[in-house]
Amino acid sequence: MNEIRIIDLHTHTKNSPDGNHEAAFMAETAANNNIHTVAFTDHCEVDYFYKDSYDKYIESSYKDISEASESFKGKINILKGIELAQPHYIPELAEKIINKHNYDVVIGSIHNLREQEDFYYWKSFDGIDIEATMNEYFDELIQMLQWGNFEILAHITYPFRYIYNLCGYIEDINKYKNKIDELLKLCAEKDKALEINMGGLKYPINKPSPDIDTVKRYKELGGKLVSVGSDSHYAERVGVNIAKAYEIAREAGFKSVATYKDRKVSEFAIV
Ligand SMILES: [Zn+2]
Ligand SMILES: [Zn+2]
Repeated sequence: MNEIRIIDLHTHTKNSPDGNHEAAFMAETAANNNIHTVAFTDHCEVDYFYKDSYDKYIESSYKDISEASESFKGKINILKGIELAQPHYIPELAEKIINKHNYDVVIGSIHNLREQEDFYYWKSFDGIDIEATMNEYFDELIQMLQWGNFEILAHITYPFRYIYNLCGYIEDINKYKNKIDELLKLCAEKDKALEINMGGLKYPINKPSPDIDTVKRYKELGGKLVSVGSDSHYAERVGVNIAKAYEIAREAGFKSVATYKDRKVSEFAIV
């Protein structure tokens, strides 16, 4: 039987404030579900590092992932990862964080604009200029790419799921075409993997981030690497919807997705 091999490079354990399960339990569950490779990528919000105790979270995260990786050798391939959010807001702190441990993969993401709350906590967009907010968000992604000390560019349309939750419509990505092109080009030039994040499928928006047209555009603009992640916060959800992410990647012309060891990329075949 030619069974499809599942790799999931974006998951959260209990060492993320919104995580639910220990790394060991997640590893065991994922191994039982025949997942080939999983990266545990707990949250680290650089601009809230001390205030929200990420300094402590990431220490237990790295320890638990390292232990799980050892004890599940031969059963499942575990990558030591971190989801580093807003790193370029405080670049010297971000460098310190990622140099402290031997990560296999660093995800770069943006969850909040400068000195604002994570979009996750927003109660409304009333009185907010959504277009200006999105332009600011994409500008920050561009700046984060210019900083560049990470491998995977995460969920580039993250605020869309909250605009949908609170306003009830899917924001039109074409309004930001020039900016998105600029960021996709930079992502390609810097050899970062564009993430196909399937986490949105568990939200009312029910869409991956980004959509397939954006993945296709990235390929047209010279993009060579995509990575896939469920963004699961539960053991049983590791690998969920990854087969769909492969379909998106294949339809956009990719024959493999990225995988990492010691922050060096290699190809993981999906055909
Ligand atoms: Zn994220
Ligand atoms: Zn995440």
